[in-house]
Amino acid sequence: MLTDAHIHFHDLAERDPGFLARYAAGPYLACAASHDEGEFLETESWGDRAGFISSFGIHPQWPVWKNADFLALVAGEGRIKAIGEAGFDFFGDRADRVRNEENDKAQTGVFEYQLDLAERLGLPLLVHLRKATDKAFLYSRRLARLPGVVFHSWPGTAREAGDLLARGVPGFFSFGTGLLKGHKKAIESCAVLPLDRLLSETDAPWQPLQGQSYCRLEDLPLVVAAMARLRDLPCPELEAVLEANFHRAYLLSRGESDTSGLARLPGTASIGEGLSGSDEEHG
Ligand SMILES: [Zn+2]
Repeated sequence: MLTDAHIHFHDLAERDPGFLARYAAGPYLACAASHDEGEFLETESWGDRAGFISSFGIHPQWPVWKNADFLALVAGEGRIKAIGEAGFDFFGDRADRVRNEENDKAQTGVFEYQLDLAERLGLPLLVHLRKATDKAFLYSRRLARLPGVVFHSWPGTAREAGDLLARGVPGFFSFGTGLLKGHKKAIESCAVLPLDRLLSETDAPWQPLQGQSYCRLEDLPLVVAAMARLRDLPCPELEAVLEANFHRAYLLSRGESDTSGLARLPGTASIGEGLSGSDEEHG
C-alpha cells in the first residue's frame, strides 16, 4: 500500500475532482491536512467514501487565530491524528514570509499554541519549516516530549535530522516531489537517514513536478520509486517499510478499537466497496 504522509484533499479536489474515487480504489492511505473549519468538515465528510486520517492545524503561511478553538475541539474529540501543519515559514517570497520580528511573533504565537495542545493531548505534530530549520532545534526539548513529530518535506540536512533524533525528538522525515526535482538536501537525507524514520508524501496539489500545474495523487508512486532507488531497495519492500512508519508516526496501532478520527482505515472498513529549484519551494 502507498502511504501519503501529507496531502491536501480539499485543494486537490478543486483541481482534480476525480481523485477521491481513484484514491479509494487504491491502494492508498493518506493523512489529509486541513487549515480551515469549512475545509476540514467537507474533507471529513468524505470519510464514508475513502479510508484516510486527518490532520488539522494553523499553517504558518496563515498564522491567524480564527480556527484555534475549532482545532482544540476536533483534537479533543479525537477527530484528527495529528496537529498541523504547524511551524514556521520564512521563505521570503511574500511580505508575511520574510523573517522579521513581526512575522516571527505571529508565527511563534500560533506554533506555541499548537505545540502546547499537542503536548496536553499526546498528539503527533506535523511540522512545516521553510528557511526555519533552526526552530526545530529551538523547540527540540518540547518536541521530544511528543509521541511523534512528522517533518513534512524535510528541508534540512541529514546531519540536522540526525541531531534532532539524538536530542530525543521522535522525528519522522517525509519526502516528496523534491526528490524528483533534484533537491540536494532531500536526496542526501532520504539516502542516509534511518529507514524506520522515513515517510513518503505528495503535499498535493502543491509541489508540482516540472511541466505540471499541480501535484497529483499519482505522483506518489514516482516519489516512492525515487526513494527506493536512493535506498537500493525493491519498491514493494520500501512501500511496506513506509506503511509501517506511517502507522507509527500517526500512532495508528495505539488501540485497534480507537477508530475516532480514522475515517475508514483500510483493513478496518470496507474500502473500495462503492467508489471504488529550491529545496523548500512547497506550500
Ligand atoms: Zn502542505
